[in-house]
Amino acid sequence: MTNVVRDPAVLEGYARDASGLRFVPEGVVRPASRDEVVALMRETAATGTAITPAGAQTSTTGASVAREGLLLSMRAMDRVLDIDVARRTARVEPGVLLGQLNHTLAAEGLFFAPDPTSDETCSLGGAIACNASGPRTLMYGATRAHVRALTVVLADGSVREFTRPRVEKNTVGYMPTHDLVDWFVGSEGTLGVIVAAELALLERPMRETGLGIPFPSAVEAIAFARAARASQDVVPRCLEYFDAEAFRIARGGGHGAAAVTDWGHDGQVMVYAEDCLAGDLAIDAWLALAESHAATDSDVRVFEGEAAVREARRLRHAVPAAMHERTAPYLAHGGRRISTDWAVPLERVEDAILLANGFALEAGHPVPVTYGHIGNGHPHQNWVAKDPEEVKSLEAVVERTLRAVIGMGGTVAAEHGIGKIKSRWLGLQASAEQVGIMRAAKREFDPAGRMAPGNILG
Ligand SMILES: Cc1cc2nc3c(=O)[nH]c(=O)nc-3n(C[C@H](O)[C@H](O)[C@H](O)COP(=O)(O)OP(=O)(O)OC[C@H]3O[C@@H](n4cnc5c(N)ncnc54)[C@H](O)[C@@H]3O)c2cc1C
Repeated sequence: MTNVVRDPAVLEGYARDASGLRFVPEGVVRPASRDEVVALMRETAATGTAITPAGAQTSTTGASVAREGLLLSMRAMDRVLDIDVARRTARVEPGVLLGQLNHTLAAEGLFFAPDPTSDETCSLGGAIACNASGPRTLMYGATRAHVRALTVVLADGSVREFTRPRVEKNTVGYMPTHDLVDWFVGSEGTLGVIVAAELALLERPMRETGLGIPFPSAVEAIAFARAARASQDVVPRCLEYFDAEAFRIARGGGHGAAAVTDWGHDGQVMVYAEDCLAGDLAIDAWLALAESHAATDSDVRVFEGEAAVREARRLRHAVPAAMHERTAPYLAHGGRRISTDWAVPLERVEDAILLANGFALEAGHPVPVTYGHIGNGHPHQNWVAKDPEEVKSLEAVVERTLRAVIGMGGTVAAEHGIGKIKSRWLGLQASAEQVGIMRAAKREFDPAGRMAPGNILG
């Protein structure tokens, strides 16, 4: 029989993820092998018990807390099973942290490209189940593009191997069924438990350079990001935006990053760009582009080489981490971080930010802290809601923004999934037919509806 932990002190440790939602699970199971997952799924199929898989519980949408039934923590299954250097692939268990995985791969001159800024604290399984992305998604694409095959345990305990088809052409039936790997990437625990993945890896770049470029205002910064994407002279690997408050937080360091002095002035915003061509010529091209958008050469901070670029990433991560920390005192009073994940086509990103800020002010809230993946038209906006009333009012502001974002050809959620908190907005984005197809797939893989209840389909 599977060992289910029911000690209240242990259960409390799994009751919250990074969203601030709190659901104490009925029990926690921590399997160390695929066979233990199979045994659990078979035993619980008989009782109809709900199962919510969880990795490192850094979900910002409540996807990794168990609204009912058992929480299945996959953290103990964290082995790198095999690295094939010649084929540039690795077979890995889901519990490994992305940072650990890349540390192991570095010894072979390889890396796994998806880079959520939470990579030191989030698991591979969670990244696959959310189709996570990060700053360098601008160059490499999101997690989906780097998953070749998955081993999944379904709700009835059967083990299934899904491998991407190798064919270049296919006309058999409806396209969404051609490749079942795609159904599980981004499925947020609702279709089955990922117990292993075959990943496509890349060779580590020979050189890397980051540039932190302060600008007088968002107008110049966003125009710069657009120009960098259109340019033939620079090859951006990432383009990350920091509004004035985000830039202040980043300069202050913390969360593993050292504070940076003598950089930027109050009120300035910043764009962090990376280029893996590096070299003086590339840096000169970046500086010329920055200057043509009102940046000052002497304000630019260059992060040269792998260690310096890693430090720059820590400065970037300090922003969401600080917002998370600012919220902590209010969790017990029903407050939480309100964090958006919408994205729009790049040419509409300035309009979207201005609209969202205007909606916040109209509702009597401050403008949010705005930062993130500007090169993909994907900035995050964060507020600290101190109590349930502020949560409600700020979510109304977000919903108003999302309606506008969809009108601009955007998406409600570009990388965090929709979990439990944003599932109410599924219908804003997807038509009744699209939701119907999702429900049909859910019925097919999980007929009793016991996988991760509350996620995606509500
Ligand atoms: C400070 C901070 C910064 C962040 N930055 C980014 C960012 O830049 N980009 C980004 O995309 N996200 C970001 N996130 C969100 C989060 O870190 C990612 O979504 C991450 O991929 C979740 O991984 P996890 O291991 O914590 O998964 P969890 O939170 O534990 O779970 C997430 C989802 O995956 C499912 N799941 C987990 N493991 C499995 C499994 N083995 N099988 C099936 N389903 C499974 C869960 O059921 C849940 O639905 C950030 C979060 C924080 C707190």
